[in-house]
Amino acid sequence: MTCDPNFYRDTQKIFLLLHQRGLAYQAEAEVNWDPVDKTVLANEQVDASGHSWRSGAKVEKRQLRQWFFKITDYKHELLNDLAALERDSAWPNRVTSMQKNWLGKSEGANITFKVEGGQQDTTEPITVFTTRPDTLFGVQYLALSLDHPIVTKQASTSTDLGIFLESARSAGPDSKTGYLLPNVGAYNPLRYVTAGSSPTNKPLPVYVAPYVLSEYGTGAVMGVPAHDARDYEFWKQNGTGSVLKVIEPLTKSRDFTEDQAFTGLGRLTKASEEFAGMTSEQAQTAMVETLASVTGQAEKVERWRLRDWLVSRQRYWGTPIPIVHCASCGAVPVREENLPVKLPVLGDTQFTGRGGNPLETATEWLNTTCPKCSGPAKRETDTMDTFVDSSWYYLRFAHSAESQEGQSFMPVDVYVGGVEHAILHLLYARFMAKFLSATPMWSHSAAKETTVEPFSKLIAQGMVHGRTLTDPDTKRILKPDEVDVSSIAEPRIKLSGKAPVVTFEKMSKSKFNGVDPAECLRKYGADVTRAHLLFSAPVSDVLDWDEEKISGVQRWIARVWQVVHTVANHNIATMAPDAARMNLTNDVEAELWKTVQATIKSVDHSFSQTYSLNTIISDLMQLTNHLTKVTSSTNGNVESDIANIPPSMAATLYHSCSALLRLMAPITSSFTEECWSILHTQHSGPTSFAFQAGFPTLDGSLERLQSRSQPCAVQVNGKLKFVTEIAVPPEGLAGGELQKWVLKRAFESDVAREVMARQGWNVSGAKKIVVVRGGRTVNLVIGK
Ligand SMILES: [Zn+2]
Repeated sequence: MTCDPNFYRDTQKIFLLLHQRGLAYQAEAEVNWDPVDKTVLANEQVDASGHSWRSGAKVEKRQLRQWFFKITDYKHELLNDLAALERDSAWPNRVTSMQKNWLGKSEGANITFKVEGGQQDTTEPITVFTTRPDTLFGVQYLALSLDHPIVTKQASTSTDLGIFLESARSAGPDSKTGYLLPNVGAYNPLRYVTAGSSPTNKPLPVYVAPYVLSEYGTGAVMGVPAHDARDYEFWKQNGTGSVLKVIEPLTKSRDFTEDQAFTGLGRLTKASEEFAGMTSEQAQTAMVETLASVTGQAEKVERWRLRDWLVSRQRYWGTPIPIVHCASCGAVPVREENLPVKLPVLGDTQFTGRGGNPLETATEWLNTTCPKCSGPAKRETDTMDTFVDSSWYYLRFAHSAESQEGQSFMPVDVYVGGVEHAILHLLYARFMAKFLSATPMWSHSAAKETTVEPFSKLIAQGMVHGRTLTDPDTKRILKPDEVDVSSIAEPRIKLSGKAPVVTFEKMSKSKFNGVDPAECLRKYGADVTRAHLLFSAPVSDVLDWDEEKISGVQRWIARVWQVVHTVANHNIATMAPDAARMNLTNDVEAELWKTVQATIKSVDHSFSQTYSLNTIISDLMQLTNHLTKVTSSTNGNVESDIANIPPSMAATLYHSCSALLRLMAPITSSFTEECWSILHTQHSGPTSFAFQAGFPTLDGSLERLQSRSQPCAVQVNGKLKFVTEIAVPPEGLAGGELQKWVLKRAFESDVAREVMARQGWNVSGAKKIVVVRGGRTVNLVIGK
C-alpha cells in the first residue's frame, strides 16, 4: 500500500512540511557505503565485521550529501514522554529502556587538553567529551576519530597515516587498531593545575582510532584503561606500561584485578592527589569546577546519542524525494499541486543488476523545470527510506482519502509488533506523530493539549520456537528423514532406535525445526491452529510449537460440537426470554448461568484489558466442560428424554450455548458459524450469524447468583481437607434434612472426589458427621 502513489503523495506532502519548517535538510555526512549495491546502508544493515547484510561486500565509510530529518529537535519530548508510556506498563519495559538507550542522554563534561609537538604545527588543543571526569587522573592517552581536524592535517603530509586511514575506514566500530601520532603529546589539564609543568606531568600519547565516532561528542576521547573496558582493550593492544588505577570500589568485594577494568563508580585513590577520598560523584563536580575556574579547560555539557535521521537512499524503489535542483535557485520543493512525483516506469535494461540508482539514467524523468524560475532543473534522484512510509501509515488506517475526520481516532489503542521494532520504527513513528500533531494534517485539538503518542498500548508478541531434535550421542541436530516421527510424542532415531533430545529453539533452516503453516492448516484447520497458537502461551512470551498438544484443542472443539448438537435437539420452542435467568430457582441452571456470566466477565476483561488471550481459551474450555456436564445429565442418553427436559432448563442451556459460541467467534470463526447454524436448525435464531449476534453482555445476574453460593469447609478427623463452593441451603432446612442436603453438594465437586479417592475415604463409612454454621463447615470422623 505504501507503494501506491495515493499513499506516497502524502509521504511527499509530509516531506515538504518538514522541509518548510527546516526539519528536512541536506548535509554532508559520513555514511556506510555498499560498493557492490552502490547504496547507503543504515548502521543496522552492517554486520559486526563491517559487511553489508545484503551484498556481503565490505562496507566503506564515505562522505556524501544526504537528506536528513531533524529528529534531534524532538529529543526532549521523545525522552520525557516515555514516562507516560511506562505508566501501568502500557509499553513493555524493555522497549522503553531500549528507546532511552538509543536517545542516549548523558551528562558529562568537555575537557580540553593542551597539545605540543607534531610534524607540523599541531599545537591546537584537543577537546574531549567524557561522562567520567572523575577518572581524569587515570587518563593514559587520547584518541581521535578518523576525520578529526588534526588527523586530516597530519594526513596531508604523512603517507603512513594515509595508509592507516584507508584501512581503518573499513574497520568496524569494535576494532581496537590505532595509529600513534609521532611526536605529538597532550597534557592532562588537571595535572597542570596540581603540578604545573613539573616532570610528573608527562605528555600523553595521541592515537587515531576507528572506534572513536566523529559524530558523537567532539570526535576525541580520553583513554582511561583502568576504568573503561574498551580503553583497557585498546591500551593492551597499543599502549605501553601498566594501567593507572584511580578509582576503587566503595565496598572491597569487587576489587579491580589486573586483567579487567573497574568501570563502576567508587572512591578516588591516592593517585588522584588532592581529590583522593572523594566519591566519584563528588569528584565529577569538583574536578570540572576546579578546571573551569582555574584554567577554563572544562565545562559541563549534556550529550545525546540520537543523530538526525538519514532518509536518503540511492535506489529506485522508495518514495521519490519531491525536490528539484536548479542551477540558480538550488534545492526547490515541488509544488504541492504537482504531487505525487511518481516513479518513472523503466525498462528492464535500466535495471542493470550492477547496483546504482536507475533514476540517474532515467533522463526523461530526471530533466524537468524549476518551480521557481522555470529554468532547466534536475529531479532529486534519492528516494526515501521505507521507514518514512511506516512512520505514519497508522494514520492512514484511521483516515480515508475523502475525510480528515479519522485523526480523532488517534491514538491507536493497541499496537502489536515484534521487539525488533523497539527502536527504529517506534521511535520514527513517535517523532512523526509529534511533528504532525502540530500541523494542519493532524488538526485534532485534543492532541495539542496532551502528550502526543501514536500508540497507547504496545504488545510485543513472542516468537514461535520449533521442536529441535538432537542426537544424544553426537549432539548433532537431526534432519527430518533421520527420525521416525510416526508417534509425535515418542520420536525415534531411525539408525540407532534411540530417543532424540527434544528442545525448543528459534526456527531456522539449519536446525530443521521449521513449521509449515500451510501444512498445519491442512491438517488441523485454521480455527484449531489459531486457537492452539493463542492457547499455548501468553502473547508476549516465547511459544514452543508442540504439535502434540494441539490434540487438547481438538478435543475441546469436539466437545463444543457435541454440546451444540445436544442442545439443538432439545425442545426449545418454549424458550423463555433472557431476563428469566435473573430469577433462576433450579440449582443446576443457576450454577450454569453463573459460569456463563463469570466467563463473559473474564473473557471481556482479557480481550480489553490484559490481552491474556491464552486465559480466554481456558475460560471457554471451562464453560464448555460445565455445559458438557449439564447436558450429559439432562440428556441421559435416552432419546425420549431429550425433548422432555423442563422448558426453563432448555432455555438456560440454549442461552448458555449461544453465549459460548459468541465468545468463541473471534477465535474459531468458521467453526462457530457452523455451530450457530446447527443450534438454530429447529427454530430460527435471532440472527443468521453468530458474529451478527454480537459479543454477549452481562445481564446483571452474576452478583445475585454468586450470593446463592457459600464456601463449605470439610474437615476430616479434625483437620481441614478442602473447601468447596455449595449453594446456599433453602430457608427452613435443618437437622438431618440440612445435613443430607449439604453432604450431597459438598461431596459432588471434583476436589472432594479427588481428596476422598486419594485417601480411600468414603462418606458413607464415616463414624460421625456434624454439619454446623448453616452448612459452612462439615466435620467427618473416619476410622481406620
Ligand atoms: Zn530555479
